[in-house]
Amino acid sequence: MVQSISTLLILGASGDLSARLLLPALGQVLTRNPERRLHVIGAASDALSTAEWRQLLRKSFASAEASGAAVDAVVATSTYHQADVTDPESLATLLAECEGVPAIYFALPPAVTSLVCAALAAIDLPAGTELALEKPFGVDEAGAVALNAQLAALVPEEQTFRVDHFLGRSTVFNLLGLRFANRIFEPLWNNEHIARVDIVYDEQLGLEGRAGYYDKAGALVDMIQSHLLQVMAVIAMEPPSTLGAADLRDAKGIVLRATRVRGGSPRRASRRARYGAGVVEGHPLAAYVDEPGVVPSRATETLAEVTFEINTWRWAGVPFTLRSGKALGEHRREIVVTFKPASHLPVGLRGRDDPTVLRIALAPDEMSLEINVNGSRDPHELERALLAVTFGPGELLAYGEVLEGLLDGDPALSVRGDAAVECWRIVAPVLAAWRDSTVPLEEYPAGTAGPAEWAPLG
Ligand code: NDP
Repeated sequence: MVQSISTLLILGASGDLSARLLLPALGQVLTRNPERRLHVIGAASDALSTAEWRQLLRKSFASAEASGAAVDAVVATSTYHQADVTDPESLATLLAECEGVPAIYFALPPAVTSLVCAALAAIDLPAGTELALEKPFGVDEAGAVALNAQLAALVPEEQTFRVDHFLGRSTVFNLLGLRFANRIFEPLWNNEHIARVDIVYDEQLGLEGRAGYYDKAGALVDMIQSHLLQVMAVIAMEPPSTLGAADLRDAKGIVLRATRVRGGSPRRASRRARYGAGVVEGHPLAAYVDEPGVVPSRATETLAEVTFEINTWRWAGVPFTLRSGKALGEHRREIVVTFKPASHLPVGLRGRDDPTVLRIALAPDEMSLEINVNGSRDPHELERALLAVTFGPGELLAYGEVLEGLLDGDPALSVRGDAAVECWRIVAPVLAAWRDSTVPLEEYPAGTAGPAEWAPLG
């Protein structure tokens, strides 16, 4: 394994993402590879002493049960700098502290990230410098194009990591292994045999105090634009010849470029809703609009559902419905592939002949195939049976797998610039229709499956 990165420079190191997700993931990566030597520098506007910063590191690593020589070395040597990271002089000082090739991780609000990129333009970056950017990547298609141009002026595309920590390496490989290492699925993986595909990410969690970010994003941008379209691209891609970055990202790009809102009509192909007060798993939850920091007039949706079409020979006519929401009754992370019904049922067989359904649960990754079999008591009567399998979990959480890719200089799992732009282009008509209220904002009580009139998916 090539280890290209010697320093991880975290801008916004005192923030929520850094403490809760990034540092625990780093702890896991270091635990897995105790030989790895990495200098970690934190910077943010908060006035933390190096001792306080190291304490924060220890706490985040402990939350991931991280331990070993590499973890100890990072805690013992890591430094923290209070700085305005939009200031070129401060950035130059931080970069001068970096040993070897740095990865600069933007754990910053998106508007600040753009200012830092502008400031970096005035600095000679060390050869090989990698830039890691969080979602959301820009605020719309034009913003993503502009941010790509800023980044391209700093480092080559292969050194730019648009992080999608939803879709880790294990999940991507589990999906591709299932599709391409089994002759029985791939010949059926097209519009001849598949009736519909649903990709669902339903959470029970409510806002959890994140109004500052979420109230401006909403479920469509937070999940569908940023993550679920990437899942769809993996499910729908043509067989890549290798699992290398170029092949995987080309194959995803082909799918995304062919994707449109179904029938070109956001009014018919999209729905949105917001949770009211309710009870989730026995705990009362206040209405979204009553959460601190929420501006009700923004009409932010907490549940979004959009049906897309992929205009290729393989997928023409197959609806792909992507849905994500908060404060729902059931935690569900699932890809549901519904096959077309059998062409002909021999006369003499009766009972349920529902189509075959392949369900792929994500994190933990599991799959089940729902098929029809002849009944145990009456062989004329069809019954439903389930073939279920659990995939290997992988040693790291998805975030750790993505971070390992960054530290090893492998951008296979990160979102390429053109794909980030495509994802905004795909959802733009929906965002416009929701802005001008062509699609009404419905309501659902927290702890339910969504608005009562919505037909369940999958
Ligand atoms: P926070 O607001 O919690 O943290 C932002 C950090 O940036 C703070 O450390 C803040 O320091 C620092 N900062 C802001 N401006 C400056 C500046 N000019 N100079 C130096 N430091 C600065 O945000 P999050 O950690 O929640 O989010 C960071 C990014 O990660 C965002 O893009 C977000 O969308 C993304 N993200 C977050 C997730 C999460 O669960 N939190 C999940 C997925 C993505 P200070 O507090 O002192 O101002």
